[in-house]
Amino acid sequence: MSELNGKAVIAARDLYKIYRMGDVEVRALDGLTLRIEPGEFVAIMGASGSGKSTLMNILGCLDRPTSGQYVLNGEDVSTLSRNQLAGVRNRYIGFVFQGFNLLSRTSAIENVELPLIYSDTTTKERHKLARESLERVGLADRMDHYPSQLSGGQQQRVAIARALVNQPKLLLADEPTGNLDTKTSLEIIELFHSLNREGMTIVLITHEPDIGEHALRRITLRDGRIVHEEKTS
Ligand code: ADP
Ligand code: MG
Repeated sequence: MSELNGKAVIAARDLYKIYRMGDVEVRALDGLTLRIEPGEFVAIMGASGSGKSTLMNILGCLDRPTSGQYVLNGEDVSTLSRNQLAGVRNRYIGFVFQGFNLLSRTSAIENVELPLIYSDTTTKERHKLARESLERVGLADRMDHYPSQLSGGQQQRVAIARALVNQPKLLLADEPTGNLDTKTSLEIIELFHSLNREGMTIVLITHEPDIGEHALRRITLRDGRIVHEEKTS
């Protein structure tokens, strides 16, 4: 397995995810192999139903493949239990979703502190880390605002700050611009670029070619397989 492990953040080989619906078998992932190095900014693209979310769920340790191997940050997570996977997620991965998923009666800074509640940080440390995270996404002046007092783009920035507060190795974003207008979407992509320049590994999942084209490597799925791959040189 040495060729798969090395220093890769993601080394997945021969992933299958098969759903059985009565007599029908759906191969949501059909023998997919993927390697992502530290510091990459990769878009995973493809039409609806091509397997993007299935792949994201497996890469994010939210689900397990039917078969195949997944090594995350040097650790084989293919056969871990659900509890063990939760631990891996907390240590390594920050998630960003289309719907922001912020708590509405909770200020921006409190939303960002949430992932730290179960860690052994003090209240003061949590506050400091959350503040730094909000500064990183350009929201230093909105920390005490509630989600309803923020624009969609600002809410997504809070969600990104929350994803970063645990200092993950990998940022996984599933259709993060799906609820945003074009201009705001490009601002979020620019934020990803600046985080990527600081060294963050980013995997961006999108069905919109206009968004995906901004990543430095682009992978296209169809029927659970990689059918195209290109890199910005
Ligand atoms: P995408 O995110 O690219 O739209 P998905 O990963 O959601 O694609 O779905 C890939 C394929 O797997 C689709 O054909 C979808 O209908 C099927 N699929 C996804 N999740 C399930 C499930 N829980 N049960 C049965 N089929 C599923
Ligand atoms: Mg999807």
